[in-house]
Amino acid sequence: MDSFKQLSIRSWSTEDDTFDYIVVGTGPGGGPVAVNLAEAGYSVLLLEAGQNLTSEYSQLVPALIGEAQWDEAQGWWFYTSDYSNSTQTARNDKLVWLQPDGEYWVGQNPPEGSTQLGVWYPRAGTLGGCDTHNGGLTVRPSNWDWDNIANLTGDESWGHDLMLTYFERLERNLFLPPGTPGHGFSGYQPVGRGDKSLFEKEPQLLAITQGSAVALGFTARSASTDYNVLAKPDINEPLPDRDFQNDVYQISFKKDERGRRFSSGSRVNQGVEKGLPLTVRFNSLVTKVQINDDLRATGVEYLEGESIYMADPRALKNNTATPRTATAKREVIVSGGTFNTPQILLLSGIGPADELNKHDIPVVVDLPGVGRNLRDHYEVPVIQEFPNNFTFWDSCVAPEGQVNPCFQEWETNGTGPWSTLGFDKFVLATSSVAPRGERDLILYGAPDGILGHLPPYTNYTGHLADVTAASNVYTYTVSESHPRNQAGAITLRTANPRDVPEIKFEYFTDGGDDDVQGLVDGIVLARSIFSSVPGLNGTTQEVYPGPEYSTQEQLRQFVRDQAFGHHASSTAAIGGDDDPLAVLDSRFRVRGVQGLRVVDMSAFPVTPGTFPLISIFMLSEKASDAILEDAAAV
Ligand SMILES: Cc1cc2nc3c(=O)[nH]c(=O)nc-3n(C[C@H](O)[C@H](O)[C@H](O)COP(=O)(O)OP(=O)(O)OC[C@H]3O[C@@H](n4cnc5c(N)ncnc54)[C@H](O)[C@@H]3O)c2cc1C
Repeated sequence: MDSFKQLSIRSWSTEDDTFDYIVVGTGPGGGPVAVNLAEAGYSVLLLEAGQNLTSEYSQLVPALIGEAQWDEAQGWWFYTSDYSNSTQTARNDKLVWLQPDGEYWVGQNPPEGSTQLGVWYPRAGTLGGCDTHNGGLTVRPSNWDWDNIANLTGDESWGHDLMLTYFERLERNLFLPPGTPGHGFSGYQPVGRGDKSLFEKEPQLLAITQGSAVALGFTARSASTDYNVLAKPDINEPLPDRDFQNDVYQISFKKDERGRRFSSGSRVNQGVEKGLPLTVRFNSLVTKVQINDDLRATGVEYLEGESIYMADPRALKNNTATPRTATAKREVIVSGGTFNTPQILLLSGIGPADELNKHDIPVVVDLPGVGRNLRDHYEVPVIQEFPNNFTFWDSCVAPEGQVNPCFQEWETNGTGPWSTLGFDKFVLATSSVAPRGERDLILYGAPDGILGHLPPYTNYTGHLADVTAASNVYTYTVSESHPRNQAGAITLRTANPRDVPEIKFEYFTDGGDDDVQGLVDGIVLARSIFSSVPGLNGTTQEVYPGPEYSTQEQLRQFVRDQAFGHHASSTAAIGGDDDPLAVLDSRFRVRGVQGLRVVDMSAFPVTPGTFPLISIFMLSEKASDAILEDAAAV
């Protein structure tokens, strides 16, 4: 494992600071593009603000994703605003406050004199971006997600059939029979799943899967004890009516033949290992794209230094940084992610003129859509208490000084509980307000008490402490695809590139009543599942939101109070020529500037359905093709 680290670091410095392409950011957007361009023979400089931690166990062991999210060396921790209204904001159990004594408080009713900081929104500032601490759940979006881009731009190459070929190209499926339609078996991205026998032998998990099938009306299937019968193995099966199917599915996620998580960071390591003309520089925070008088991107300015961005929990204002520049002969590709790509564009003078003027940044292109249209999937948890502790992790304890047997099994064979994420199934369903009548709810379940994303310093007492620490609870998190809100925005707080931008989601502003209703429908479905679990005869009870939330009105308020998200998108969106808020054209080119593209989650006009990761990898392959085609045409 160490060899990966060495190989990447070996390419750390080069005397020649001119490259064909410069790519900023190594997440699922930027990492694969950089490798693809280098594979085509072009020299590529890949700049990453964080470090290479891909050989850390928290990035390799599927079960340790929580540790990765809490690791200060990997994290960029943002504090976001869900509402402008501070009274509504204060009703959130996950809100972080700063107490007068400088300590954090998480939840409602903080000590007198505390100030609202925001909702903890973990991102990863490290090789691989958020792909290193995410679940890696691999769900293709709905056909509409691609067809919508084709319709908005008139570019038919975005049609869903063509986009499927990118999935087939990048996937290396490890559990379906080779040749299964709609899948790839030789791509760089390994897709595996948890060992089904682990989910079958845990009696309560099996019963919840059976209850899930009952609640969706699959009575005959629900009697089975075979996980393959209860939960469909292939969530990405390209059926004609896939986007309208309500069903229970097994969880597939990115892990390789040895049970190791695979991220876009792993992809970059592979590129370096192959000896491609790919130079990766870490601790390199890009502060500006250089644009000449002909409005062509010619290179970047960046700061070299460790933990210099203020979202890094270890950052201090006085950490030292050395200014550097690098030149791109062909193009600069910005892939800093939904929060950082707009920040980089704004700092480069590309964005709404009034905002740039406010910060005395010379306007290069007045592009009003930069930082606007911030979107996310909404999510809410339903947590049910069961009579017995879940035994799923029971074998994963060892006396002090001895090796954890689950670690040993994972390391030796790539199997066992640690080769899973702990999440055991998805339920896909259609709410009463589903756009186009497509399934719009994805419930993902785990034997754990999960309120949402909580920072490591969370200091709950009482009921919330009990719920989050309990071993006899199961959470179905209800996530809503295609929510309607597009009122969020990323704006600069200051012109200092080390400062974090202002991140305001403005939850439920557009189409809020429908979006709230969709989530309420999801809670009702989760309740129906839990009440359908066989053999428990009323011995379970809901502990969050809890039975006191019984009416639709009470549930609507719960949704407004506790909704959260972790799939932020769309702040440098692709759009049609007639759309004044379009930042990119359909070939990822920043409007008004030559030689500059954006390839990451911010490019999607709408957050792609369910889990977006695979959509970004597909987008990244498409962008690579567009860039290479344009290079060949010159
Ligand atoms: C906690 C969490 C869990 C998730 N789980 C899932 C999941 O299970 N399935 C799923 O489909 N999706 C999941 N997601 C979403 C998914 O991980 C992200 O949507 C995806 O990683 C975004 O990719 P990206 O390339 O746009 O940006 P990022 O992954 O954010 O990568 C951006 C990279 O750019 C670097 N960077 C930023 N600014 C600069 C700069 N100025 N200079 C140099 N480098 C810079 C960052 O350090 C980072 O490495 C999850 C997200 C989070 C936060």
